[in-house]
Amino acid sequence: MAGPVEPDWAQHFVETLRVPLLKFKEKVGGRISLVMWSDCAGMCTERYAAELVATEVKQQMGLAIEFKLHSGSGPGPIRHTRHCIDFVRNNYQPTHFATDIFKRDFNDGLYECTICQSKCWLPPSGVDIYWCRVRGVERGKHLGLMGVNFSVLRQAINTIKCMRPAVFIMEKVGRRDGNYEAMLDLIKQDLDADYVSMAIDSITPKQHGYPTEQKRVLVAGGRRDQVDATDLQTYFGRLIVAPMPLSHTYWTFLGLQGLCDDAVATVGQLPTPDAALKIQSSGCRCGVDPMEFCPKHPCQCEQCCQPQPLREMCTWRLNALKYLDDHKLQWAKDDGCLTYIQALELMGQETPSSARGRNILNIFARLPAAHPLQSTMMIIDISQDLSHTMCRCDGTVPIIGTTNAQMWSMRAGRLLDVSELAKLMGQDLRTSDLKNTFESRMRWMLGASMHVATTGFALTGLLASVGSSRRVWYR
Ligand SMILES: [Zn+2]
Ligand SMILES: [Zn+2]
Ligand SMILES: [Zn+2]
Repeated sequence: MAGPVEPDWAQHFVETLRVPLLKFKEKVGGRISLVMWSDCAGMCTERYAAELVATEVKQQMGLAIEFKLHSGSGPGPIRHTRHCIDFVRNNYQPTHFATDIFKRDFNDGLYECTICQSKCWLPPSGVDIYWCRVRGVERGKHLGLMGVNFSVLRQAINTIKCMRPAVFIMEKVGRRDGNYEAMLDLIKQDLDADYVSMAIDSITPKQHGYPTEQKRVLVAGGRRDQVDATDLQTYFGRLIVAPMPLSHTYWTFLGLQGLCDDAVATVGQLPTPDAALKIQSSGCRCGVDPMEFCPKHPCQCEQCCQPQPLREMCTWRLNALKYLDDHKLQWAKDDGCLTYIQALELMGQETPSSARGRNILNIFARLPAAHPLQSTMMIIDISQDLSHTMCRCDGTVPIIGTTNAQMWSMRAGRLLDVSELAKLMGQDLRTSDLKNTFESRMRWMLGASMHVATTGFALTGLLASVGSSRRVWYR
């Protein structure tokens, strides 16, 4: 793929924590094998990041760390989990693995292993690093603590209590909110006797050299016989105050090509007679006005599919109308000017086929932030309704961990493809075994995984915390 090489975050993190990592080396000798367990792993980016950290540690201080993926589970009881597990098995050869984090019996210490196709042991010792990705509120379930359901979190806590890993990381999907406090309370309440822990708020790949905005909350923990609370704070603190500088916008990072300048400049202008004729004969009525009913691009929703379409009941149309009101763009609804989609189609560019997606793009192209279109950094997730649409104009891409994100670059006039999304997520698909992995599955898996640099950040901080502690390595 075009564009510059990936930011060398591993070098940056390892350099930043050089002294405690050297202590880690003193403690364990020149070589160590660490066992990982990854729950709700997605593509198991933590294992991928571990390799990059290990390479750097070897180079900078001559310590050989081998990371073994022992077991873990797919991202919850969801239909795509199988593909994640295929990917993880093909790339990281875990000894055991499970589709479902919930199929565990902590009394017997057994879980349903997909690889052995039988019940396997939850090892009561020997696991060094535990990861879990915790979703926020899970819909449709009984709400417990403070109105929040953390069934995955509870399961993760029970797994930690059972296996007693030396260190753990939990990532909470979504921003800092009421769930965040509830999550910390629960971890403190259940693990405090055995573990020190700290919450790391608003961590984002933007701090790790990627033009990717994906805010996360991490909770890092260490078993009290291995890690000092102050060390944990100190070393993560050092990583946080020394972010990796961001030297690219998504545009330069991906090496994208712009649309033909002259054609884009016509958006928001009256069309030439020639263009007007072409638009007329295309039969498409999609515009800035969401209430316009296009016969070529019908909305498939229940209301619009009625014999007498009830477009005033169609959710996205209503949201779009409100958006136009809120942004004082009503005037653009029927000003007769060329829309963004029309301009793209006159250029022969491919455009989205959904009425909703076309309308979103037509509206956003009229916002001041989209101008001039020839140089705008505006990028939008058109998979979401207008009331939830993620849009950024600062050169970063808003990847929010939905599994069907469709990031449209206004300036490139197209969706980012899956290899571009992967690159923004810190993943290099050229080195992965993609057997049985189709594009839609890859897209889904990327959305279900942690950012590679974020996992590398967490892992380096944990190793440093274990290293610096006066406590003896437990082996
Ligand atoms: Zn097994
Ligand atoms: Zn249309
Ligand atoms: Zn509709």
